[in-house]
Amino acid sequence: GERWMKDGGIKETDPLAMADTDYAGSMLASAYKPPSLLPIAKYRDKLLYTIETFPVTVLIGQTGSGKTTQLPQYLEQAGWCDGGKVVAVTQPRRVAATSVATRVAEEVRCDIGQEVGYSIRFEDLTSEKTRIKFLTDGLLLREALVDPLLSRYSVIMVDEAHERSLSTDILLGVLKKIRKKRPELRIVVSSATLQAEDFLNFFTDTAEAHDTSSPPGGSQGRIFHLGGRMYPVDIQYLEQPAEDYVERTLKTVFDIHSTEAEGDILVFLTGREEIDHVVEEIATRSQELHHQSQKLQPLPLYAGLSSDQQMYVFEPATPNTRKVVVATNIAEASVTIDGIVYVIDCGYVKLRAYSPSTGIETLTATPVSKASATQRAGRAGRTKPGKCFRIYTSSDYATLHEATPPEVQRSNLAPIILQLKALGIDNVARFDFLTSPPAELMVRALELLYSLGALDDYARLTKPLGSRMAELSIEPFMAKVLLVAPEFGCLSEMLSIAAMASLQGAVWFSHDGEKKASESARRKFAAEEGDHLTLLNVYQAFITKGKKDAGWCRNNYLNFKSMTRAVSIRNQLRRYLERFGIDVSESLAPSALRVGGPDIGEKIRRCLTTGLFSQAARMQPDGTFKTVNGGTTLHAHPSSLMFNRKADWVIFQEAMETGTKIFIRDVTKIEKAWLLEYAPSFYKVKQ
Ligand code: ADP
Ligand code: MG
Repeated sequence: GERWMKDGGIKETDPLAMADTDYAGSMLASAYKPPSLLPIAKYRDKLLYTIETFPVTVLIGQTGSGKTTQLPQYLEQAGWCDGGKVVAVTQPRRVAATSVATRVAEEVRCDIGQEVGYSIRFEDLTSEKTRIKFLTDGLLLREALVDPLLSRYSVIMVDEAHERSLSTDILLGVLKKIRKKRPELRIVVSSATLQAEDFLNFFTDTAEAHDTSSPPGGSQGRIFHLGGRMYPVDIQYLEQPAEDYVERTLKTVFDIHSTEAEGDILVFLTGREEIDHVVEEIATRSQELHHQSQKLQPLPLYAGLSSDQQMYVFEPATPNTRKVVVATNIAEASVTIDGIVYVIDCGYVKLRAYSPSTGIETLTATPVSKASATQRAGRAGRTKPGKCFRIYTSSDYATLHEATPPEVQRSNLAPIILQLKALGIDNVARFDFLTSPPAELMVRALELLYSLGALDDYARLTKPLGSRMAELSIEPFMAKVLLVAPEFGCLSEMLSIAAMASLQGAVWFSHDGEKKASESARRKFAAEEGDHLTLLNVYQAFITKGKKDAGWCRNNYLNFKSMTRAVSIRNQLRRYLERFGIDVSESLAPSALRVGGPDIGEKIRRCLTTGLFSQAARMQPDGTFKTVNGGTTLHAHPSSLMFNRKADWVIFQEAMETGTKIFIRDVTKIEKAWLLEYAPSFYKVKQ
């Protein structure tokens, strides 16, 4: 069988490898660490001095050193929140924003939403009292629409900047502009890895900065290093590539459990489905291990878990139990779990990938970069020497990219360009990008926004459609659909659909071993025309027959928490529209009961086409789909109603790549003629 190949641990030149003896001596090293013992603590005063003196500070430090949870508290203590000012900390991920906010609130002993709060899309837990606010970078950008100089904030900490998420990059560009008008604003760019100079140069690229007699950053900025504190991590590779990395990962969990000393395990996989599978398998298979005194406790960690579910992973394992946290990339740097001694790295990560030729953006499992692999391995060596098991060979490792390309180079830029336009940045090609996107992505995004009616012939934002689309906190195509829904006479229905669609598949709840029953429950809500109308049926049934009741949801295999969230999202969207002056008064009768007039289903499908026209496909005789340009084969996702059903032309909302196949989800039947009717310019170019 396969055997592990050993590697000499992380290389000496690697910043992660710097073992720190004074930390190793701490009795508390492996137990709960009071904030005063975190690496950042001894830099407190120097750090506050640097931030006071220089407008831009680039903060570099190992994950777990206290950047995210401690620095905002130091800033508050040092008076940066006096006079009602707020310290903002941005995160690329929603889960990270909520979990670190919860942690900091605990440390300062306040209820979340009081002095410490968070704000993510559709969920604002802040108040007048809030002094430290965690939010996603995308949401801070959106705040700039209302408050262009972000004047409530005295300090803005752009956290996890090394991830180079699309919104982080754009936010950095916008902050660079704001800085010119607000010299008192303090910007902290924090990063787990070493891209410090790129960030500093970006902000301080002036004549002074090129003067070699002054330190990098001149009078405008500084790089601040928190000492690297790491124990050695022993890295082991497979000798032969694994046939199935999920299965191999599972086997490794049990190998570690039966042969290695105490310590929790952190497993990196790519997504929810894999993670749920592995968690279930660990639970089942570990029941056969009664001869062992120590139990295994598998815990999932991915976006979309409820806050309580998320918090479990941070709790210490119960006595005589080995915790196995099975996570997506979120555990790579943005959250820290104590007690991890073993890391299993599957070698893949789900990344956004956008093809300008098909216009399809997918989430695709992609080999990790070397920088990621190093970061993942480092999670094993925080409190004592650890081990990292890579589910790939050392020659696979040698072929990996050094770093993951920034998202701005591989995403659909339409949402971000719409935002920039709304911020008054008309010439987007000359916007100060940290890394410029490829020209073809820009062109494609401008084309798409033009076809959606958000931009005019001169690429200016249209009023009111374009500016309202920018303001609505949903993707441009869905925003368009909502804004034109009154013309189609289906606003009430479209609000429900938009709310349900933002749950991104978390609608159904499948109890273990009850697949059949849950599928037949689903069929009750199925609409012949496709997934969007099915979602509408579900929503309406929840409100009317279900009376928003948890028990009803359980009987129908619906996720009650998600459904409640949909109600809240729908209300928020409705309030937006109301603010725009759109008539949102609704008849109480659900549309199914309305009599007369043209088919409401057709109105809805036409209306959806006005936004989703660029994501159209045609079913082939073999049941797969082909994109409009004929180049790409798509498959209906098993969760879609179109799975194994007949259709001709369809539009879809989401595409994802698994293995070598692209799956589409939230699929609805349309007529080919509608594409030409609602997006003439878009389809003229193509034919
Ligand atoms: P950094 O931002 O530098 O990666 P953090 O501020 O996130 O570091 O974490 C500092 C320490 O706080 C961690 O080492 C961990 O001990 C603790 N910690 C952070 N988040 C949580 C949490 N949700 N629950 C328990 N402990 C946490
Ligand atoms: Mg952090």
